[in-house]
Amino acid sequence: MAGVLQQDPDGSTVIACLDPRSGQQVATVPVTPVDQVGAAVARARAAQPDWHGLGLARRKVLVEALRQAFLAAAPRVVSLLAEECGRPGGEAWTSEVVANNDLFAWWLGQIDDLLTADPISLNPVNYPRKGGRVQLEPVGVVGLITPWNLPVAIPLRCLVPALLAGNTVAWKPSEHSPRTGALLHELCRQVLPPGVVELVQGDGAQGQALVTAGVDAVVFTGSVRTGRRVAALCGERLVPCSLELGGKDAAVVLADADLERAVEGIVWAAFGLAGQNCAAVERCFVDAALYERFVDAVVARTRKLRPLLDVGPLITPAQLEIVKAHVAEAVDRGAVVRCGGGAPGPGWYHEPTVLTGVQDDMLVMAEETFGPVLPIVPFDDLEQALARVDGTPYGLTTSIWTRDLALGEALGLGLRCGVVTVNNHAFTGALPMAAWGGPKDTGGGVTSSRFALYHLTRPRTVVLDALGQPHEMWWFPYNEALERLSGGLVELARRGGARLPGARAALSGFIARWKDS
Ligand code: NDP
Repeated sequence: MAGVLQQDPDGSTVIACLDPRSGQQVATVPVTPVDQVGAAVARARAAQPDWHGLGLARRKVLVEALRQAFLAAAPRVVSLLAEECGRPGGEAWTSEVVANNDLFAWWLGQIDDLLTADPISLNPVNYPRKGGRVQLEPVGVVGLITPWNLPVAIPLRCLVPALLAGNTVAWKPSEHSPRTGALLHELCRQVLPPGVVELVQGDGAQGQALVTAGVDAVVFTGSVRTGRRVAALCGERLVPCSLELGGKDAAVVLADADLERAVEGIVWAAFGLAGQNCAAVERCFVDAALYERFVDAVVARTRKLRPLLDVGPLITPAQLEIVKAHVAEAVDRGAVVRCGGGAPGPGWYHEPTVLTGVQDDMLVMAEETFGPVLPIVPFDDLEQALARVDGTPYGLTTSIWTRDLALGEALGLGLRCGVVTVNNHAFTGALPMAAWGGPKDTGGGVTSSRFALYHLTRPRTVVLDALGQPHEMWWFPYNEALERLSGGLVELARRGGARLPGARAALSGFIARWKDS
């Protein structure tokens, strides 16, 4: 749904929600006044100590209740995703419901282990009668800003681990998917204590107000342009932030690829979510030996895709204009439209489009299109092709398509990206145990897996000293005996440490002399 902010007759601001399949307004959603964003964060802050204080076992029970509420609401979620984002039913069920059930299950199953403290075991000779641990504690209030392209899955990837870890969350969904946001928030309100998840509705003004309202960490998914602004605001306040800013993913098809699978998989990865996926295949490099057959098969498969049943519309007229502009620039400069190319409607639907004859400096090859456009490029020299794969500012995911799994893995590992898949693409974004994110302009943030907890928790070190001795070696006074002891320790380490015959006796002698000094 395109969300357009407008004034209601009573003077309040609302988001006018337009169905992207028709362009018709279907609802309005009240916007959170900017001067009330701080109050939402304050409510989340007030709720946080009690939420953390419930303990992990109780929080798990409540997050499980949220999962059940979410599953019970699944048909409503799917129909809202159709109305709000034009999502085909099969796509909404698989990527936004089934995958999220797995997400809940994995975090609920793993969180005890993931939050278990690391023991600090100390050398009893140097550090007698001391012990401790490093434990993970919630950061406090997480400020979460999420996009419209996966308006359920992307927020849940943060919400579920953040809540289990003991945080509360102030969340702003995209102004283009406010009703899905409101539904998810309503489910949270039904099962969680007040203030544990606070909702902020609006656009950039509310987003900026949230980032600057005193949250303890920010998790942002969206464009590079906005990500830079969010990072700058966080930098000024020394608030840690996690950024997931998209990609310009490539698929590399080797001559020995399973042609049928490569065609099916790449057509899905390019045109699923109408290409509005940070991990969509937006560039496809194909060995020249296979190129003509591959292009013909991709074009034939793409022509069978059904408007709105397989491929939905773009989210907004502005997004549609970007896609049209990328295609038009490529065609003006000599690219060939092998199928698609038009935007006949309904609504903001753009045909899935296959291009050949493209150059690396065309917009379709250089910038994130975020639409259903697949440029296919032949290569003779694999090394040069891989250099071109790495030649964008992004680094999210890359796939290699080959029957030689070891070769595919080795080639992928040579690339600068966060996810490598062989004979598949993009789906690992839905895997809760697989780290998601990448270097360069992709932002460096990590969603999913235990590594996501680094953004949502802070390690605290606790050491208890059971009064082993009155005096530590490194305390005052500094004297000759201390220097001899230190020198002795170093000499022992150089000769093999405690394993050296007589090492313990020598060490005890050094320590006794130091204690007597
Ligand atoms: P944006 O990054 O432009 O915006 C994301 C949200 O942040 C919007 O609500 C935006 O409001 C808000 N915002 C703007 N300024 C600030 C600020 N200073 N502080 C906090 N929040 C702010 O994403 P869009 O949703 O508009 O999509 C545009 C492009 O982003 C797409 O074409 C695509 O390239 C990329 N994208 C990437 C995604 C991914 O998964 N990595 C997902 C979706 C989009 P406002 O609209 O008023 O600017």
